[in-house]
Amino acid sequence: MGLNIQEIRNDFPILAEKVYGKPLVYFDNAATTQKPLSVIEAEADVYRRINSNIHRSVHHLGNLCTEAFEEVRKKVAGFINAGSNEEIIFTKGTTESINLLATSLGEHLFSEGDEVILTEMEHHSNIVPWQLLQKRKGIHIKVVPVTDDGELDMDAFGKLFSGKTKIVSVTHISNVMGTINPVGKMIEKAHAFDVPVIIDGAQAIHHLPVDVQKLDCDFYVFSAHKMYGPTGVGILYGKREWLEKMEPYQGGGEMIDKVSFSGTTFNELPYKFEAGTPNFAGVIALGAALEYLESKNLNDIWDYEHDLFEYGMKKMKAVPGIRLIGQASDHTSVISFLLGKAHPFDVGTLLDKLGFALRTGHHCAQPLMDRFGIPGTVRASFAFYNTRDEIDRLVGALNRVGTMLE
Ligand code: PMP
Repeated sequence: MGLNIQEIRNDFPILAEKVYGKPLVYFDNAATTQKPLSVIEAEADVYRRINSNIHRSVHHLGNLCTEAFEEVRKKVAGFINAGSNEEIIFTKGTTESINLLATSLGEHLFSEGDEVILTEMEHHSNIVPWQLLQKRKGIHIKVVPVTDDGELDMDAFGKLFSGKTKIVSVTHISNVMGTINPVGKMIEKAHAFDVPVIIDGAQAIHHLPVDVQKLDCDFYVFSAHKMYGPTGVGILYGKREWLEKMEPYQGGGEMIDKVSFSGTTFNELPYKFEAGTPNFAGVIALGAALEYLESKNLNDIWDYEHDLFEYGMKKMKAVPGIRLIGQASDHTSVISFLLGKAHPFDVGTLLDKLGFALRTGHHCAQPLMDRFGIPGTVRASFAFYNTRDEIDRLVGALNRVGTMLE
């Protein structure tokens, strides 16, 4: 089948924007992806036609809005093949999903001296919530090291388990290097020790098909804004048996069954974890993003992005003074690099003036930067609306920037 890239580009109005009079080249997709018109319109349409608070209404608009919201829960469940709709919790992002888990699961599972296994390539969102739990409960954090190629040291992983290990929490794909971690094997190993596994899917969900039942992960978390959907919406998938054991994360409206000053009982799943008015317009727009992704076929997206990556890697390797960070054998469409002795910030600033949007810095992964002994990288992350021509232009710009910063 294949993808019609020009047609796809036309679906994303922002791609026609100019930056300093130059055509925008958007290579910051790992930070957030752009939105197709159907997503923008879906969100606007909520406010235009059906805006009304959900779940607590007897009136027509309230019912329309509730139905549209719940329809998306079903779509998300289908998209990742969850066992039931009740296993899908809406949050405001991956960060909130992990904080929810570190708090609710943390309270449920951990006692002083217990251990969580993370990896050296985690985003701060999958480090700091566990450090907060460490402060509250005196737990220990164990870390899977990263090899020079940017892969997880799987032998070391196997040796980190002890009778005190309570959770493994690992990113599916590194946001810095694009490394795809062998999460299936990691889950199998952890389950052999009876340890549940959280997968941070923020960088994976829009690149490759995810089947949570096949993976057999206990939790899978991601953000809508990285999958062509709106900001302010996240997903927490959890196996029912775990979600039922966990205490609520926040208290408020919607998550209760009955409230009195002598005590409160909680609502059933998934509402137990959805206190307060959710970002229902955003959730409904996420539905449009899922439809968009499904209309393009994730396998075709994978093939196209993979081709872009291979092309980009070949071209970028030829740029004088380039140092690539992370060369894993299994990877997605992210290239992190340094240029000669130049600071990543200076490279990014000059590229910006030429119309390129790339991310520079530590990418919220400072332990990984420390691992490689670098202050940060410049990161080009490709989506399926990017083109080989844009990569050629970047390579031309890098050659120019390299001589300017020599
Ligand atoms: N985990 C990973 C791997 C990420 O790439 C990101 C976003 N850069 C996050 C977590 C946090 O996502 P959000 O900011 O949407 O909560």
